[in-house]
Amino acid sequence: MNEYIAMLNSYGIEYKINECLKKYSTYKTGGDTKIMVFPKNHNELKIATATNLEYVAIGNGSNILFSDYGYDGIVINTKNMVKMRFTGSLIVAECGLPLSKLRESAELNCLGGLEFTEGIPATVGGAVCMNAGCFSKSISEYIAYVITNNGIFNNEQCEFGYRTSIFDKNKGEIISSVAFMLKPSELDVIESKKERFKKLRKSSQPLGKSCGSVFLNDGYFAGKVIDQAGLKGYTIGGATVSEKHANFIINNGQKSSDVYKLIKLIKDRVYNTQKIKLKEELRFIGKFDD
Ligand SMILES: Cc1cc2nc3c(=O)[nH]c(=O)nc-3n(C[C@H](O)[C@H](O)[C@H](O)COP(=O)(O)OP(=O)(O)OC[C@H]3O[C@@H](n4cnc5c(N)ncnc54)[C@H](O)[C@@H]3O)c2cc1C
Repeated sequence: MNEYIAMLNSYGIEYKINECLKKYSTYKTGGDTKIMVFPKNHNELKIATATNLEYVAIGNGSNILFSDYGYDGIVINTKNMVKMRFTGSLIVAECGLPLSKLRESAELNCLGGLEFTEGIPATVGGAVCMNAGCFSKSISEYIAYVITNNGIFNNEQCEFGYRTSIFDKNKGEIISSVAFMLKPSELDVIESKKERFKKLRKSSQPLGKSCGSVFLNDGYFAGKVIDQAGLKGYTIGGATVSEKHANFIINNGQKSSDVYKLIKLIKDRVYNTQKIKLKEELRFIGKFDD
């Protein structure tokens, strides 16, 4: 690690030692990471990931549960990579750009398509890695190509699936920027779609600290089967199954272990009562006690 830090110093790349992960996740839980690196651009990202040490990228931490024991490797925080440029209907956006900023700029340029992402608290990198989506649409439908620390991937090479991509499977591949191909559209059409998606989300989504849907809807609606297992409102420590939408776990406590235990309990209970094996949509970083 000392060698790695010396290398960051020699390139003037920003980093923090023993950084607490709590503030980087929407669950607001987690221990410390040995080192968190903040690359400012593609070149710095390449340098920061040219190592044999284990690393993981984070965006807004809205789909991550960090271990209370922290993380032993390097966390690459993309929050300083937020530039974007337009060429006609093509927008190339850096990985750390909040999706909301991308949508706002697209709208100002009368480019539509991403309205369905309204309310997803993601960065570009996180959304593309997870192939974020809702209301039967996914972000991959609007992607021309992705630039990573290692190369360029066209849409097909990204191997997009339901809430997954090659970047989700291959942890060494960090998204640096993404080219979106959007659709020229009237401003009022974009506005009305946005409003419709906002209303739909408000009616179904609970407030509070969460990561959105905890489980995939893989041939069943996870919220429905969790509800049928009688788990709405079930609580472990600070973590509770939402009364409004059973696929949401709301965290009012300080511990990832509460959320983790509740996830395990839900999986066991749903399997025992309905023989359905729920699969997590959220990602775990660090070690958890079983
Ligand atoms: C209130 C709420 C509502 C939500 N609604 C939805 C929804 O409707 N649809 C939906 O799909 N999701 C939803 N989510 C979940 C979450 O917002 C998405 O999964 C989002 O895409 C995660 O983006 P992020 O920037 O927060 O990524 P993070 O949570 O930081 O990371 C998620 C994954 O992406 C990886 N990653 C992050 N950045 C990069 C990068 N640059 N290169 C490679 N890998 C990277 C991480 O290692 C991790 O595996 C919701 C979450 C909340 C809290």
